[in-house]
Amino acid sequence: MSLLQVKDLSISFGGVKAVDGVSFTVEPGEVFTLVGPNGAGKSTIFNLISRLYEPSAGQIVFDGQDITGLPAHKVAGLGIARTFQNIELFDHSSVLQNLLIGRHCRRNTRWFEELLFLPKVRRSERQHRLLVEEVIDFLDLAAYRDKLIAGLPYGVRKVVEIARALSSEPKLILLDEPASGLSVEETQNMAWWIEDMQKDLGLTVLMVEHDMSLVSRVSNRVLAVSEGRPLAMGTAAEVQADPKVIEAYLGT
Ligand code: ADP
Ligand code: MG
Repeated sequence: MSLLQVKDLSISFGGVKAVDGVSFTVEPGEVFTLVGPNGAGKSTIFNLISRLYEPSAGQIVFDGQDITGLPAHKVAGLGIARTFQNIELFDHSSVLQNLLIGRHCRRNTRWFEELLFLPKVRRSERQHRLLVEEVIDFLDLAAYRDKLIAGLPYGVRKVVEIARALSSEPKLILLDEPASGLSVEETQNMAWWIEDMQKDLGLTVLMVEHDMSLVSRVSNRVLAVSEGRPLAMGTAAEVQADPKVIEAYLGT
């Protein structure tokens, strides 16, 4: 069974169809990448899947469950985590604090238990910290653990965004342009993280990315979209060679 099924998804803003009948499936364990010119609707598709936007039509099924009507925090709790094209971290908190916040949707204690600081809460607090420390190790962030986000280089903040998403123990991670603004060397590292997430963590990855060398290297399948509509699907090489895709890029 597919982990994610997106069926005929659509949304308009002020009469403009930003996403117009997009369907695709993401299989467990694959890296599936959306490519397309700026304004094609890629981030909007992410916002629809993570339930920040309400689709005007279509359906989203995750892990066999229809999530189209669920609120965003429920979807996060079911195991979909995401990063944002523009980094969304708490600048005046440390890396560790940001990751503990990212862990929040996994807390199963009730507010009054937290208030009373019952033993159950203390125990789970320890478990949360252990998991977050593992994520810090996995992404080589130990040197930045207690540093404030505001003082970190851009490339490190991009990795912290991924760490925050991983802290919620997702089954599916949505990465919106993970390599944008990164140097060649940082992009190379990003490719390794993505490969490790797939191979070592067994995660399923849905990504938006422009850097075609990164896309070719890590993606199992690629879907090209333009003006809200699907254009071509296949391997990175097949999609890049598709005349409709070439035309869409030349037209911008
Ligand atoms: P991409 O990520 O492919 O570059 P986006 O999904 O960000 O493109 O945007 C697709 C289209 O939807 C653009 O025309 C954009 O202006 C529009 N759009 C996205 N979000 C909103 C919003 N919240 N309000 C109005 N228009 C939006
Ligand atoms: Mg975008």
